[in-house]
Amino acid sequence: MTKKGIYPGSFDPIHKGHIDIINRATKLVDKLYIAVADSPHKKPLFQLHERKEMIEKELSSHKNIEVIGFDNLLIDLANDLDAKILIRGLRVVSDFEYEYQMLGMNRQMDSEIETVFLMADAQRQSISSNFVKEIARLGGDISNFTNEFVSSKLKEKFAK
Ligand code: ADP
Repeated sequence: MTKKGIYPGSFDPIHKGHIDIINRATKLVDKLYIAVADSPHKKPLFQLHERKEMIEKELSSHKNIEVIGFDNLLIDLANDLDAKILIRGLRVVSDFEYEYQMLGMNRQMDSEIETVFLMADAQRQSISSNFVKEIARLGGDISNFTNEFVSSKLKEKFAK
């Protein structure tokens, strides 16, 4: 039986914290879907297709990964894909509260889906897309936080 997992997020843009979690998750499942939430209400910096492109570029060497966009209920998507393992990353204590609630509600909607929480290496735990964007916007060095392709896309975006 193929064990399928799903790692949802905004990935606006993907950073080294996400990549750390993805590397760990691919050791646990045979196939990992990276599910990129469209989330227009969050006013993302990058369009859905740009966010997907950056992830695909970063993870091109992984064979068991597929990047997909979604704008429906995560539980419905997981069922459509038959992916019963939901991967989430935990960074700070404040993440826990939100994740705890989300897990509780998802479990009430579908008790078959298990959520697995992973933590990145210590120096990657503090990375967030919002801070990466803010530092890039102000012209700071983000090479510790994102890979080259994403850095160049951020520079392009803020040069406009
Ligand atoms: P953000 O925009 O806050 O960086 P996303 O919405 O894209 O994050 O997050 C997708 C998932 O990745 C969430 O489960 C989030 O907790 C996790 N995540 C994001 N950054 C990190 C990190 N630095 N370490 C571990 N998990 C992370």
